Amino acid sequence: MTNQIDAIAAAQSHRAANGAAVLAEFVELLALPNVSRNLDDVAAVADRIVGMLQRRGVTARAESQPGAAPLVVGHLTVPNATGTIGIYAHYDGQPVDQPDWSVEPFKPSLFDAPLTEGGVEIPFPIADDGIDPEWRIYARSSADDKAPVMAVCAAIDALSKAGLSPTNNVVFMFEGEEEIGSPHLAAYLHRLGDELAADIWLICDGPVHQTRRPQVVFGVRGISEMEITVHGPARPLHSGHYGNWARNPNLELARLLTSMKDADGTVLIEGFYESTQPITEADRAAVAALPDDDESLRHELGLGDPEGRGEALALRLLLPSLNIRGLDGGAVGERAANVIPVAARASLDIRLASGNDPQHMMELVAAHVRRHGWHLVDADPDAAMLAAHPRVASISMKANYPGVRLPTDSALAALLVGAASAAAGEPAVAVPTFGGSVPLHHFTTILGAPIAITPFANHDNNQHAADENIRIANLWYGVDLMASLLTMPVNH
Ligand SMILES: [Zn+2]
Repeated sequence: MTNQIDAIAAAQSHRAANGAAVLAEFVELLALPNVSRNLDDVAAVADRIVGMLQRRGVTARAESQPGAAPLVVGHLTVPNATGTIGIYAHYDGQPVDQPDWSVEPFKPSLFDAPLTEGGVEIPFPIADDGIDPEWRIYARSSADDKAPVMAVCAAIDALSKAGLSPTNNVVFMFEGEEEIGSPHLAAYLHRLGDELAADIWLICDGPVHQTRRPQVVFGVRGISEMEITVHGPARPLHSGHYGNWARNPNLELARLLTSMKDADGTVLIEGFYESTQPITEADRAAVAALPDDDESLRHELGLGDPEGRGEALALRLLLPSLNIRGLDGGAVGERAANVIPVAARASLDIRLASGNDPQHMMELVAAHVRRHGWHLVDADPDAAMLAAHPRVASISMKANYPGVRLPTDSALAALLVGAASAAAGEPAVAVPTFGGSVPLHHFTTILGAPIAITPFANHDNNQHAADENIRIANLWYGVDLMASLLTMPVNH
């Protein structure tokens, strides 16, 4: 049975002995345009990846469905495997706004340093020695997210050249429309179902920690969006003739909103925190071990009095948040008029922690509104309706998707941190969750598998922007990481 440490050593010597060839193959992949909406382009990339996998003994094919980019699916089955890991990445990329690029986005170029630090273009290497880990390849998707495809292929080569074998079966899934919101991923997962069964799905996307330390992220938040409109008088009223008698919807809305959250940032809506995956001692320990930049962030962002009574930002992200993203009622400045407006509106988003149901969380907000004396209506109320109730409001809801999170104290979490640390030769940062929302719930709800994010790109890779790049050191770490993951002792 292959030892994980031997596998990492094999990856290191493979890239030392064959670095130029690895980069040459990567350049061919990067040269294929992959803007998500150009279906012919992405289909060509999918075919290329199928070929790359097949050459390495992976049973691979491109699955398709009408109007969708292909989904590349592959299986590497090894004798006496202890478990099965899923490797997910996406091969499509963000649009390329030509004028902003210093180089051609689909003509990969190599620089001896970051462009922002005066890097000079150099030819791609022919020899394997002398490849400087500080060099950078500039091209669309060099980091986000073709790099994992190359890294895992190189890791498979490394193992086979060393006469080693992965100890886990591997299921590959490379998506071609992640950058436009994965519109067909759920349908693909439903269709392929059991074929994609794995002990864990590893989302290979995104950057390492900004301190350059390797990181593993155990979850993402979900999101729901809603609007609350509180209704005032049936028509705008003269504030002189009716002020002190007709209620003002702006004031009523302000009162309603402030009843939802206290000054420390605790949401006061009944049941708001109840369904949240509990914060464990392991979560607290992981957060305490994170590189602490809260204080410098606080200064950078000008936050005089953050919510949460001094709790770490990373801990606050483990809770659902209630955000008022916009307010509308009457007018201000030049457009201000002396009226009592007919309505005031608040637009809210709820960042969902693991465990929170998207619809249910908004129902809790609606129940809170009702408890505060508001009669909820579906359509704009007429005067009769307004006169019949002390307070009338309407609410619209958009349940997007839930968050997911692998428990920080799970065996899999420990394995992943171990795998990343061993590959990097330094302790990996264990992040209990990203604050942002990414629809990774499909893997848990449809496939029934836990997920974790195992990124390796440099934090300054200009993901989604012009001059996207990958630092060679990060690509090499990616190869080592993949070798480590293929041989980590998953216990099925
Ligand atoms: Zn990505």
